Amino acid sequence: MSESSTKSAMTDLSVRTVKEKCQGFGACVKAAPDAFTLGNDKLVQYHGRGALSDDELLMAARRCPYKAIVVVDEATQQQLHPRVRPPVPQK
Ligand code: SF4
Repeated sequence: MSESSTKSAMTDLSVRTVKEKCQGFGACVKAAPDAFTLGNDKLVQYHGRGALSDDELLMAARRCPYKAIVVVDEATQQQLHPRVRPPVPQK
């Protein structure tokens, strides 16, 4: 996904949830209830994006205060969320 993607854009994004980070508060579930639910263990489960646009999917991932939802652009292998900052060059 490029930075200029439109709201309706649907890029091939992969989503991975990190249960070790999830605290089960459900902000992602409220943002995108068709994509995310809480399982019997009260931790996040991902069910596919359905009709969510890139922006809607990323917005739901960004709602997680623990960064437990990782979104990667499959075409470029760029991690879109959480952002990975490039290393600071050593002087
Ligand atoms: S918002 Fe984050 S911590 Fe809360 S349920 Fe979703 S993944 Fe878990």
